[in-house]
Amino acid sequence: MVTRNASSTDPIRVLFLAAEADPFVKVGGLGDVAGSLPPALQNLLPEDSGGRKIEIRLVIPFHGVIDQRAFTMVPVSTYPVQTDEGSLLATVYYSEIRGVPVYLIGGDPITQAPGVYSFDAREDGAKFAFFSIAALELARKLNWHPDIIHANDWHTALSVYMLSLIRAKDKFFQKTRSVLTVHNLPFMGAGAESSLHVFRIPPSTDERLPEWARQLPLPLGLLAADEIVAVSPTYAQEILTPEFGCGLQEFLQSRQASLTGILNGVDMQAWDPVREQNGVMNYSVENLDLRQVNKSALQNRFSMLEDPTVPLLAFIGRMDPQKGVDLILQSLQQLSELAWQAIILGTGVPGLEADARQLEIDFPDRVRSVIRFDGRLSHQLYAGADVLMMPSRYEPCGLAQMIAMRYGCIPVARATGGLRDTIRDFFITPDSTGFLFQPASADALTNTLRSAVYTYPNQVAWRGLQTRSMQQDFGWQRSAAAYARLYLNLIRA
Ligand code: ADP
Repeated sequence: MVTRNASSTDPIRVLFLAAEADPFVKVGGLGDVAGSLPPALQNLLPEDSGGRKIEIRLVIPFHGVIDQRAFTMVPVSTYPVQTDEGSLLATVYYSEIRGVPVYLIGGDPITQAPGVYSFDAREDGAKFAFFSIAALELARKLNWHPDIIHANDWHTALSVYMLSLIRAKDKFFQKTRSVLTVHNLPFMGAGAESSLHVFRIPPSTDERLPEWARQLPLPLGLLAADEIVAVSPTYAQEILTPEFGCGLQEFLQSRQASLTGILNGVDMQAWDPVREQNGVMNYSVENLDLRQVNKSALQNRFSMLEDPTVPLLAFIGRMDPQKGVDLILQSLQQLSELAWQAIILGTGVPGLEADARQLEIDFPDRVRSVIRFDGRLSHQLYAGADVLMMPSRYEPCGLAQMIAMRYGCIPVARATGGLRDTIRDFFITPDSTGFLFQPASADALTNTLRSAVYTYPNQVAWRGLQTRSMQQDFGWQRSAAAYARLYLNLIRA
């Protein structure tokens, strides 16, 4: 007689921690990921996750900017978090995203901070150290034993580190394994050092870590995680090199056996040219002509010449040197002799914002710089612009290029990280979906943008690019299944 091993069919319990999650709060791609990967994991068919369902709970900070009235929230728990200066109360609310339980943790270090991320690194250090400890404690309060703690980026990396310190002596977490996904290696949590002390988190003495990194949240998490995931296969390789490793390359090489690359997916419902609202004329590969309506609407709204023959170039993203915004501003100057229009949507580094505004002054009839976060306009741009410019200096995964391709907005991007993994280059393959270039220079971007602008009037070539890019599957299914396999291997090990 075969005896049934109960644990082999039990759901895999995952506590998923992130600093932001759409639709509660989103600043960048991490918000997209934390809002869409957990539902994708929960909805995986058992055959895609080794025969076991995934039961996932998402935990995010209850940032002051979250609009409480827009969501149903129920208070569930209040408990103290110990610090060196006495205890601080964590107050937890319950809500849901598409059937996934969501816990929002509040408390002084979180609710008193402005915005999601602060310019004051120490303030962020306290906020996320408190959150990381409180999130671990929450599992205990709920008496919900996680098989996996899945943290993301430096903000939640300390939960992984603390787990590794307490696991040996703490029955509750004895079987819990950890995954840390790196969305952006350079952000390691500098400024959090004093908070480690306050929240009684001992620095590491492990000599594999460079000395400067032994008190920083992300390196501590990378040291302690049972598995490390980078958000694209190319980025997983790049971070092992001096160019992208931010001084951790040798340490990361020592952890290479536990490092994989899994591409982020796109929320195919939220980003759907066929069905979405947001003031967009819906279209598909079958009736791509309708896309022109969206382009005209943009030209009209921004008082630019309503001419379908002029390619409309867009930038949508954080105004950060990482994104190569400065390269775009220089390139557009260099391309002044060609006919194009550009809309730049983003916020971030004040100097880059000012430069973008200046470009609009320099090209009053064909550049618009929209310096704000505007989700609705981003949809309209993906659905109406012809080209998305994404010359990132480094790009762990990048969502904007995948969203753009889903809308037939052709990316002109640098061949790095996830951009390299998701875009097939016009110059290399007849099966292309965009334009890639190598050097992080304005000249290289200028040449490639010029090629795109020259190709644009060629209806057959451009339609081909659009059709192929729109037919790609950037959904979460494949990546969620890869995460599920990772979880399963960890808990079986
Ligand atoms: P990152 O995570 O590095 O910021 P990604 O390309 O992975 O970059 O994700 C950026 C996400 O944020 C995309 O969904 C993009 O459309 C959105 N986004 C960035 N800046 C803005 C903005 N100013 N207004 C609206 N959406 C924005």
